[in-house]
Amino acid sequence: MSVAVIEKESRTGEGISSRNSGVIHAGMYYPQSSLKTKFCISGNKLLYEYAKNKNINHKKIGKYIIASKPSELKRLKDIYDQGIINGVNLELCQKDKTNSLYPELITEGGIFSPNTGIIDVPELITSLEGDIQHNGGLVSLNTAFLKATQKDNLFEIKCNDGKDFTVYSKNLINSAGISSEMVSKNIKPLHSRHIYPINYAKGHYFKYTGDHPFKTLVYPVSDEFTSGLHVGFDIAGQIRFGPSIDWIDEIDYSFNDSLKDHFINSIQSYWPGLNPDKLQPDYVGIRPKIQNAKEHMMDFSILDSKNHGINGLINIQGIESPGVTSCLSIGDYVTNLILEN
Ligand SMILES: Cc1cc2nc3c(=O)[nH]c(=O)nc-3n(C[C@H](O)[C@H](O)[C@H](O)COP(=O)(O)OP(=O)(O)OC[C@H]3O[C@@H](n4cnc5c(N)ncnc54)[C@H](O)[C@@H]3O)c2cc1C
Repeated sequence: MSVAVIEKESRTGEGISSRNSGVIHAGMYYPQSSLKTKFCISGNKLLYEYAKNKNINHKKIGKYIIASKPSELKRLKDIYDQGIINGVNLELCQKDKTNSLYPELITEGGIFSPNTGIIDVPELITSLEGDIQHNGGLVSLNTAFLKATQKDNLFEIKCNDGKDFTVYSKNLINSAGISSEMVSKNIKPLHSRHIYPINYAKGHYFKYTGDHPFKTLVYPVSDEFTSGLHVGFDIAGQIRFGPSIDWIDEIDYSFNDSLKDHFINSIQSYWPGLNPDKLQPDYVGIRPKIQNAKEHMMDFSILDSKNHGINGLINIQGIESPGVTSCLSIGDYVTNLILEN
């Protein structure tokens, strides 16, 4: 079987994958039976092994989830319990431990996740692209998918790389991220009831250029929809805060400087020592959510012929966090679906 990746941009990884936190998650937030949990937990192990074998920069620096108010301790315990049910290695820490580790922070207790880390996502993508090519696959850049029609169990796929052309394939995988709804609508005969509208949830990051106490990732207790304005690192050690969440109607990567006050208030609720002058705009990312602002968390959606009745089509939507962590597991899962067909 030969594989061709059709990518409309001039480089791979220019979509959601170039605008995220780069965290290798451990899998404590989602229900045990969800694909998010399954792929995050297996993907975490696979990604550390892969990064080690391929010399991709990564660090297993660990993460503390902290409660800064007594009222957050119940939510903290719920996250811990969910993580334990999911089989994640976690330590529940009392206030004296989190205070001695992070005396500069306001903490009432915390959870330590030793298997959370960070990875250089552009290096990961370059390596995956190399793997496709070394295994006889093709990555066709500057090539837009236009539409596909299935006839006699073969997809006729119309593309454009400056001029229109057609490729034929037994299988078609839609993994177009934020454009997955538009791509889905151009696959015939995929019925609209199998296509999720994509809702855009924009996240801002501010970097911090001053001294700081952080040795690990630190996440304030999250609600169901976000993991809070957490402390992240890039692989060079630069710290940043975010992502925030704003639901938007159109894809828009502009930076809203006026969010700075919100960031200052939120960060100072657990780190009063933050110097606002050292907080600088960094970048934004957009989550491709298949739920809207009022709906509960939805799982990754990976539909095959058992769901939509079209042989050879794998339609993937809603790959938000922990999508980077899960990428190798999702790849294995999709490969098996194709081989089963
Ligand atoms: C703010 C934010 C923070 C995140 N943090 C983390 C994190 O810390 N850890 C983690 O595990 N996950 C995280 N994620 C999730 C993760 O980034 C995504 O799940 C993952 O990058 C999605 O990859 P993808 O390949 O599905 O989408 P993309 O990377 O967007 O790839 C889709 C590709 O399809 C191409 N494409 C689209 N339409 C067409 C077309 N018509 N023709 C040809 N090509 C097309 C695009 O150009 C793009 O390159 C975060 C996401 C966001 C938004």
